[in-house]
This record gives sequence, structure tokens and C-alpha cells, in this order.
Amino acid sequence: MSRLLRLILFSVLLTALAVAPARAQSASDLQSPADFLGYEMGSQFTPHHRVMDYVQHVAAASPNVEAEPYGESYEGRTLMVAYISTPDLLDERETVRQNNLRRIGLADGAPTADDAPAIVYLSYNVHGNESVSTESALQTLYELADPTNSQTQPWLDNTLVLLDPLVNPDGRARYVNFYRESVGAQPNARRMAREHQEPWPGGRANHYYFDLNRDWAWASQQETQHRLELYNRWMPHVHVDYHEQGIDSPHYFAPAADPFHEDIAAWQREIQTEMGRNHARYFDENGWRYFTRERFDLFYPGYGDTWPTFNGAIGMTYEQGGSGRAGLMVHTAEGDTLSLHDRFVRHHATGLSTVETAAREADRLVSEFVSYHETAASNPPGDYAAYLVKARDAADHGVPNTPDDRIHALHEHLEGQGIASTIAGDGTDMQRSGLRYADQTEQSAAIEPGDLVVSLNQPKGRLAKVLMEPQTTVVDSVTYDMTGWSLPYAYGLEAYALEQSVSVSGDTEAAPPTLQGADTDTPYAYLANWHSIADASFLSDLIEAGVKVRFAREAFELNGRTFEPGTLAILRANNRNMGSDFDRIVQETATEHERSLYRTATGFMDEEPDLGSGNIRYIDAPHVGVLAGSPLSSLNVGEVWHFFEQQLGYPATLLEPGNFRDEWLSDLDVLVMPSGSYGDWLTDERTEALQGWIQNGGHLIALGAANSALSGRDGFDLAAPPADADSAAASPELTRYEDRAREAATRGTPGSVHATTLDGSHPLAFGIERYFTLKRSARAFAYLDSGWTVAALEDTAPLTGFMGHEAQQELDDTLVFGVQSYGQGRITYLVDNPLTRGFWHNGQLLMSNAVFFVGNE
Ligand SMILES: [Zn+2]
Repeated sequence: MSRLLRLILFSVLLTALAVAPARAQSASDLQSPADFLGYEMGSQFTPHHRVMDYVQHVAAASPNVEAEPYGESYEGRTLMVAYISTPDLLDERETVRQNNLRRIGLADGAPTADDAPAIVYLSYNVHGNESVSTESALQTLYELADPTNSQTQPWLDNTLVLLDPLVNPDGRARYVNFYRESVGAQPNARRMAREHQEPWPGGRANHYYFDLNRDWAWASQQETQHRLELYNRWMPHVHVDYHEQGIDSPHYFAPAADPFHEDIAAWQREIQTEMGRNHARYFDENGWRYFTRERFDLFYPGYGDTWPTFNGAIGMTYEQGGSGRAGLMVHTAEGDTLSLHDRFVRHHATGLSTVETAAREADRLVSEFVSYHETAASNPPGDYAAYLVKARDAADHGVPNTPDDRIHALHEHLEGQGIASTIAGDGTDMQRSGLRYADQTEQSAAIEPGDLVVSLNQPKGRLAKVLMEPQTTVVDSVTYDMTGWSLPYAYGLEAYALEQSVSVSGDTEAAPPTLQGADTDTPYAYLANWHSIADASFLSDLIEAGVKVRFAREAFELNGRTFEPGTLAILRANNRNMGSDFDRIVQETATEHERSLYRTATGFMDEEPDLGSGNIRYIDAPHVGVLAGSPLSSLNVGEVWHFFEQQLGYPATLLEPGNFRDEWLSDLDVLVMPSGSYGDWLTDERTEALQGWIQNGGHLIALGAANSALSGRDGFDLAAPPADADSAAASPELTRYEDRAREAATRGTPGSVHATTLDGSHPLAFGIERYFTLKRSARAFAYLDSGWTVAALEDTAPLTGFMGHEAQQELDDTLVFGVQSYGQGRITYLVDNPLTRGFWHNGQLLMSNAVFFVGNE
């Protein structure tokens, strides 16, 4: 055969595979993972591309399986789901899916069939270095796919399984590559061996070092966004998130520990218990250790067990002892050797057992699932019927933009979660009373055009409540993660929880951006708003396009409109070098970012400053460096990296702290110290180098725990608050041993939301009307002596979430955000990390202010 002909045949074959992944008529070609991959499962780690190959093979060889890519990771690896059921149910897959959504009111029309299969969604390896999960997934896939398997086949008669073998391919690739290049000819079980010591950043998180098992409710990461799209398309009845924990821990599976969120139904606990009892049978038979109902609670909504639970599913986490320190084999503290194979068989057993239980409970699962959503829609839980989020009053302020950016962003956030919300249309005029979020008092609130209304009378009402309610009810103070998060606080918006239901109509599409103001093709200047991260991202692109931009340090007035501090002024006078390209580039960039612009033919303002004034400051585009490496927390580094690349869209140079050289500072205008423990990185010499650089105009931005590294050092106006004499005098109390966890909680700061007092006249606060801060630490500093305290804690008691009373005492009159002038430079202290987990929307604008305005003011 000629080479050309072979090539043509090959591409025809590829095309055929791509368009028609037809199911095999017989399973004679179906190979086990061991046969296909060429090694016993549990004897090696299977890399991503071989995992994909195997899933494709099973889809081609088994009548029980279809495979579907559902997205890509940041590093371009395929995300894949396998659908497993009987050939008949697979043929009806789309109908099954639509009927499931129809039954719970998430799709129009009545279901076209009475009986409904249980839909079980198995997610493996969300933490990349908990690497046995994917290996177990392949074996579970095979045994469910094999038509000759008499154990599994009956289950498929009333069950459809979605199996995602590798949720976090980038993190797992990092781990698997590390392990392969570190292990010797024989694996070494000693814990001290290099193969058990993952280097920074480790394989747990994704490309941007985000923990994908904290991201379900915020969907800041691409992998989560794709997965939620798939999840919401299906709305499964069971979801399992596969994990690993410490080497010495026994296996953990459902039922989960307290605290259960109050929005978890009794039947969900009961079926979790059914699942756990079924798994226990297999573990008992094999003599494997396991535990249930301890440690892993169901409260924080960003997990792969809680989020599905708030969507009416049986959401569960299974944890095998092992993880990135276990390799192919490792010694346990009790003198055993834990092998990859040991880990493999346990996660495999629970996979099959989950499907078995779901098949047995299918009728109950479906009927409870349906009534869960019906009740949510007809009789919303809790004290409130709806949430009202107020749009910015733009009648005579800034450049009119509909809808308000942050309202639009919150609306899209909810949409990504599958929650319906409405932006009130023209003519809306209602009055309701409700609880005001900012101070939690009863107030009367007007519902006006542009406001966002989230009614709880909807199938996803419970999830809406969990993400929006002004106060979470903490059943128990001993929990695994943050306890306060409500989205109106994160977006810094004025909001009300309404007791009466409310129905508004409106248009949720954003109006196209417009050119407003003077009718001229060559205006003296363009003005743009500064209210949101979308405005900051627009500025980034203008700078990248070579446009010179200024910002208003003071408000000015023009044509009866007030332009607030922070307003961007793009003057022709600054951009003469661009010639006739100037208007085109500014307008095209605005269109791309959906920004409206206001044109003025004159620099003479009705109320000064004029646009030529020194109060309209030039934004000298900063060269930004970010410390990114050991000894910092990779999660905190990733938040900053992701912020610059994905949210702001502005270049930042990542700098390896271990190789840091003082000379690098001369190439930087801004250096960001991500939150984390700096250990002995900040030597006296480095402190001196930083001081010299700041005095010469450098700008140091310290986030979260980085502030502790600077506190008390020469030149840095940051110090612990004076000790409180009263609290030291209190007599010690004796604590019972059994109360130790509860006692520790009095000092606990798992994550709560607090009101701040904000100095809106400082450039760090421009564009921000109110700032609610997410506190995850009792780290406390006094107000700055010589600098500006831009945000201070208004009240140590949280608006939502739990903070131990001892921790609260330490936070009285303390700094949240401050800026110090030092020589010609600046130090910005962001004591509460505004970029936590990429979801504190208002924090993104605050960070943009720090980058562009502080130091240029
Ligand atoms: Zn995990």
C-alpha cells in the first residue's frame, strides 16, 4: 500500500472513530485494564493519555459504555466521562437525561416515561496526588462494562453510571511524573525515601494550585466550570468523590460526620447510612479497617460531597489511606507495608458497592430526589422566600452601564450553579421589608430596575439558600472548613433577605456597550467606570495595547453626572503617538470587554478637577513580580497567579523565592508577597534590600500571613496590637480531656465574614462602596501609626460563620487593609487575604487598586 493511501485510510478511520463511537455488538474484544495496559493494576501509575486510551477502548468494545469528552484542563488535557448502563438505556440516554430534569422542574414539559433509572456519578482523583483513585476507576469501569460479569450486569437494568476517571489531570500528571522519575529500580517503602517526598507544589491541586475540592460553589477554575456544566446537565442522584488521606489512616466512607448543614434532609442521611453498611459488608469480609461518621463533615458548600448534597443527591467522600506520600509501597507506623494494590482494591470495592446499593435503592432515590426539589420549589426552607441584591444607583453617576457589573457577575455566577435569578426590568417598582445583610436589621427595601432577585421558589432553592443566606446556621462549632461565605458579601453588594415571595420580570441579557456623551469621533478624552474587576481587566488590556490611561483621585462633574474617584480618563493628549489608531484601539478594547465609554469634547469640567489636573493621575504601568515557590503555600501562590492571568489579565513575573536575588528588584515596580509562612526566607539582608527598593519607589504588597513576616521589622509600620490587660487577668478554667476539640474551637477561626469600616477616599478603596472581609485567622495588627488604615474591622462578631470567642477578643480595633508611604515607595498590608480561593469578587477589585493606583496616587 502506498504511503499516501495508508495515510488516507488512517484519517478515514480516525474520522469514523470521531463521528461514530458506535457501541460494539459483542464484548469479545473487551480487554481488562491489565491486559490492555500490560501490567497488573496497582503495580504502576497509569498516565493520563493511557487512561484516555483505555476509556476509549472500553467504549469501543463494550455495548454498555459510551465515552464523551466534556472539556479540557488548563494544560490542555482531556476531561472525559464514561456513561455505563444497558445498551437500551444508553440508546435512551438523552431521554433519560431530559426526563430526569423534567421530573425536578429543571426542564420544560412532562416526563415521557414512568420509570427512571438511578443516576450515579463517580468522580476520581480530584486531588491529583491521591493517585490510586484513577487506577481503581479503570477496574470499576471494566467490571461494569463487561457484559459477561454476572455480578454487575443486573445493577445496570435500573442504573446509569457517569464515571469520570480523572477530574484533575494536571495535578495527577505532576504527581505521576514526579513519582516515575524519582523511584528507583525497586520501590522503596521507607518513608524517608525521596519518592515519598513530593517537591513543591505537589500534585494535589490543579495547574493554578487551586484545590478543586473547595471550588464547586465558586467555580473559579476551568475544570470545575466544565464539570458543573456536565453535572447540571445530568443532576445525578448519587455523587461520590474519591480521595486519599494519611498513610496510617484506615479507610473512610459514608455516612459523614456532624456537623450536617441544616439543609441536608433526613432521607439523605439514611441512604448514606445504607451505602456505608453495604460497603462495610465487603470490608468486613476482607478484614479491612474502616471508619464512618467522624472527621469529614457536610457543611462548607465547595466540596464534592456537600455541593451534590445541596443538589438533592447522596453526596459522599471516600478516603483511602495513602496519597502522595505512599508511592507504590510505604511503611505504616504500625509496621505494615501499604501497597498501591492495597489502596486499589478498597477504592474499587466501594465503587461497585455504591452502584449495587444505588440499584437496590433506585426507586427510593428517584422519588426522594423528586420530592426534594418539589419541596424546595413549593415550600422553601428557612425564614426567607427571596433575596434582593441592589444595583448601584447610576442615575447621575459615572457611565451608565446595564446591568451593573457586579450584579451581572453575580447573576452569571448563579447561572453557573444552575440557580435561576432575575435582573428586574424597566418599570419594576415594589417595596418589601427584609433583613439587611450589612447590619442584619429589618429594613424596608425598594425593588427597582437593575436589581437582582433570587427567588427560593425554584428547584435549586436549597442550593440558592446555602450560597445566599445572610447567616449560616452552624450546628456545631467543630468543623473542617470555613463556615461563612454568603455571595452578596463576597461581591460587596447591598442585599436583603425577604420574607415574602416576590416575582419580577426582566431581561437577563447585558445591554450592548455604548458610546455616550459628546457626539464626536475625536473626543478630548474617554471616561470609563471603575467599579469591578471587569473594569480593571479592561484597563489591563488598554495598557497592553500601549494606551496611556489616567485615573481620578477626586470626583469631578460633567453634564450633571458625577464621576467618582477611580474613574479612568483616557486622554488624546497622552496618546498622540498612536495617531489615528487611538480611537479605534480604545473603542475596540471597550467593545471586547463590554464597557461603555463616555466621550467629552473638553477637558473643562463643570466641577473640578479638570481632566488636565494633577488630580487626574497617570497610571505608570507597573512591572509586577510575585514570589512563587517554597516555602510559601502553593495554594496562596496559585491564588495570586490565577488572579493576574485569569481574572485581571495583566502580566506578572513569578519569582522563585529560593533563588531570589536582590538585583531582581531593580526590574520591578511591584512585588507581591502571597499569603503563607515565610520561615527564614526574609533574612536581615533581604529585608534591607526590600527597604532600599521601597525607599526608591518600589511597592510591596503583602497578603494574609505574609504580614506576619513583616510585622515588627525596622521601617515597617506594622505591629501587634497592645496586649489587653483584662483578658490576661481572667482565671484559668480546667478543661476535660473529652472536651478538647470544643475547647480548641473557642480559639478557632475556620472562616467567617465581618463588616469593615472603609476609607473610601483612599485609592486602595476606589470603586468599592462597602467591603465585607473574610477572616480565616486571628492574626491581629494595630492601626497604622504613620500610614493609612484603609479598612478596619467594624465588629469582631461575624455577620455570618463561626469565630471562637477567644479569637474574637484578639481582633478588637485591628487593621484589615492599610497603606504606608516609605521614602518614595509604598507598602500595602492586606491582612485578610482578598484573593482567598479566587471567589471574593470585591477583593479582586481591591487588589487591582493596589496594583494600579497605590504608588501612582
Ligand atoms: Zn483529597
